[in-house]
Amino acid sequence: MTQGVNRQWRLAARPTGPVDERLFRWTEEPVPTLTTGGQLLLRNLYLSVDPTQRGWMAQDTYLPAVRIGDVMRSLAVARVEASTHPGFARGDLAQGLFGWQDYALVDATVPGAVTKLPPGMPITRSLSTLGLNGLTAYFGLLDVGRLVEGETVVVSAAAGATGSVAGQIARIKRCRVIGIAGGAEKCAWLIREAGFTAAIDYKSQDVRARLRELCPKGIDVYFDNVGGQILDAALATLAFRGRVVLCGTMAGYGATEPSCMFKNYTNLILQRGRMEGFVVLDYVARFGEAVKDLGAWLAAGQIKDQVDIQEGLENAPKALRRLFSGENRGKQLLKVADR
Ligand code: NAP
Repeated sequence: MTQGVNRQWRLAARPTGPVDERLFRWTEEPVPTLTTGGQLLLRNLYLSVDPTQRGWMAQDTYLPAVRIGDVMRSLAVARVEASTHPGFARGDLAQGLFGWQDYALVDATVPGAVTKLPPGMPITRSLSTLGLNGLTAYFGLLDVGRLVEGETVVVSAAAGATGSVAGQIARIKRCRVIGIAGGAEKCAWLIREAGFTAAIDYKSQDVRARLRELCPKGIDVYFDNVGGQILDAALATLAFRGRVVLCGTMAGYGATEPSCMFKNYTNLILQRGRMEGFVVLDYVARFGEAVKDLGAWLAAGQIKDQVDIQEGLENAPKALRRLFSGENRGKQLLKVADR
């Protein structure tokens, strides 16, 4: 039986604007104990910090909203402390929605509740490039975007966890890749480290004008992580039969009003374009093929990834805010315990 305190962040209120620490409540409880067969007591090590968590706080999406008073939902990697499930032993590493807390008690007989980390899989990559971000980039670009070698690809939030991988896959597929990111430092990283053809700093440059300069034949695939005015600028530059991959709406998550009315929507019709949303969970059955390709590209040095590790469970709300202020440099993780 484990002694000690389980520190937790619980959802206190639904967001109507930007994410704020006051939306959460700090609680401390005894560490839970195993009560029946098939259970695991897990010690969280790293929490994945994801924009979708704001959606989970606000309303039902592709998952039900987190209930007020519940531990804030979060993907995590944890160490098995105790197990009454024959498939797991003390010391194993596992991934699942274990929440903003030190310890989680999980019923491992529920399908999908816990996945054991394959031996040798680095924890940070299992939550980023070899995890949901890499998988999102892979299926978004290749399946939804139906990328063809040699095309012109534009990616927004391009220096982030998902965007940076999407752009590098396009580069590997011999495409011209233009990244849109906030600030000179991120734009320089895209060109020097990630091998993008060009980068646009949306905070200091006219995105629409720059897209016209950089994509004289139009954009074949626009991988959209932000929505709003940047999406509208990309629509204005869409190539004939161009595809817009709707991955996320960073510009809209904290907005209280719709962030943009599309002025260039008609261009989708004129260019016989296609705009399609997706959720990476649609591709669960094919995750294996993506992990194989992503792993090979990482091993060959063809994909450079950045991980931004903040520390301390008490900093979970602050870590989430970093995604919306653009402070994160690549995948935002929160380390809550040593391995
Ligand atoms: P990330 O890109 O690592 O971090 C978010 C980035 O968004 C920030 O670094 C910031 O970069 C940018 N940003 C923040 N506010 C912005 C604004 N108002 N306008 C433009 N850019 C803004 O995060 P991520 O986890 O990889 O997620 C990226 C996107 O993918 C999100 O929209 C997320 O919801 C989506 N996603 C979708 C799926 C799916 O299944 N469809 C799965 C995973 C992620 P700058 O400094 O460059 O502004």
